[in-house]
Amino acid sequence: MRITKLQLATFLITFIFSIQGFAQQRIFDVHLHGAKDPQAQLKSLTSAGVYKVAVSSSWDLQQQYRNGDNLQVLQGLMVPCPEGKVPYSLQPCFKDGNEWPSIDWVEKQIKAGNINFIGEVLSQYHGISSSDSMLLPYYRLAKKYNLPVGIHTGSAGPDHGCPNFKQDMGNPSLMETLLKEIPGLRLWIMHAGAPYHREAIDIMKKYPQVYTDISAINNPNILGPEQFAGILKLFIDNGLEDRIMFGSDNGDIETTVKAISEISFLTESQKEKIFYKNAERFFNARG
Ligand SMILES: [Zn+2]
Repeated sequence: MRITKLQLATFLITFIFSIQGFAQQRIFDVHLHGAKDPQAQLKSLTSAGVYKVAVSSSWDLQQQYRNGDNLQVLQGLMVPCPEGKVPYSLQPCFKDGNEWPSIDWVEKQIKAGNINFIGEVLSQYHGISSSDSMLLPYYRLAKKYNLPVGIHTGSAGPDHGCPNFKQDMGNPSLMETLLKEIPGLRLWIMHAGAPYHREAIDIMKKYPQVYTDISAINNPNILGPEQFAGILKLFIDNGLEDRIMFGSDNGDIETTVKAISEISFLTESQKEKIFYKNAERFFNARG
């Protein structure tokens, strides 16, 4: 059988398009916590297209999260640890049971390359403002070493085990004080501030170095898909599409990814920004 040039060209074009159709979405998951089986957790993430994760958990558990062939791990620092424990899973954050790791120790770990970002900042679970003076030395270290800071905001799930938790301490407008105190600090508002997402938008419009992650609110078991889409649209309509980042927060990766890929008002380019491009810019920015 003779194959004409036209047939060959048609075949090649169809082939290329079909591989593109199957090409996996690249994902940078900026919000991950520890699991009982870290290897299984990381395997399920990488098979869904995750190539980079920002993880925070107890110091001991975090040591089991290491770079793999197709995965880069960024290490966080949970601070403060309410009653010395990681919320929900309740294992001690640090061996000595402390709520606040010493600044000297943190600086040593940063210098050794063991901390790549400060977060999840759990001020709200501790019952204090994100701008509380106790936190400023940690933020100053972040600024000194050009590390980003991620702060929990908004609501919390049930059974977190933190008796001092205060919902109103999760209002992103409280960040204004620290942003004035430490100009240029690279900050991200975790969980988009919801239900204080309008306050999150106000802060982001005022401070161009502030980003947000949409973890937890992109989980349909936590927030209805229509509510999530509504919040996301508000950020987009306010011109913030370059500062929204994907996070799974240990939710099912396929489900949390689908929550974004199925939103009809997002263009392919906006989805790519949310899945990894914005996070790459944020984590790699110069201070
Ligand atoms: Zn959180």
